[in-house]
Amino acid sequence: MSRLDSFIRRMTSQKIILEHLVDQVNEIEGPILELGLGNGRTYDHLREIYPEKEIFVFDFDMTCHPSSAPDAEHMILGDIRETLAFCGPRVKAKAAFAHIDIGSADPTYDLAIASWLSPLMDERIAPGGFILTALELDLPNFETVEKPEGIHPGRYHIYRKV
Ligand code: SAM
Repeated sequence: MSRLDSFIRRMTSQKIILEHLVDQVNEIEGPILELGLGNGRTYDHLREIYPEKEIFVFDFDMTCHPSSAPDAEHMILGDIRETLAFCGPRVKAKAAFAHIDIGSADPTYDLAIASWLSPLMDERIAPGGFILTALELDLPNFETVEKPEGIHPGRYHIYRKV
């Protein structure tokens, strides 16, 4: 499969799963966390499919397309490894949903991210809340959720806090 085909398949899966979770996430109180603003594509989609939810976005920097820029209150700048543990005064409630889009193409680096990110996510997610991530996380207080049909096994993980 070409890299273009692989990219298209990854983006399609991401969109299908984001939309698949909407009704269940809306039943849980709390904001949404977008980890990795990047170009702002998934943030822009999240705010379209979750018009009632507050969305807090994390990234080192704000380099997105201007039409997808979060306002200053909802953009949390810095290394997520440092900011996530201390975002409570701004984010206030535990999150109903976190979309994690900060993986790399390097399996060793991804394992390192997963090891510091897993306990931080456990802290920030409300009971019943969901995480969607391409990284395999170590989350003893979560169960793994079935993905919608057609999603390549192992490509994404959905976790739900019990
Ligand atoms: N979701 C985005 C979109 O749809 O346009 C793409 C996100 S891009 C793949 C990954 C982003 O995560 C980059 O902007 C990068 O700066 C950010 N990132 C990666 N690791 C980070 C960290 N430890 N702290 C803050 N931002 C991080």
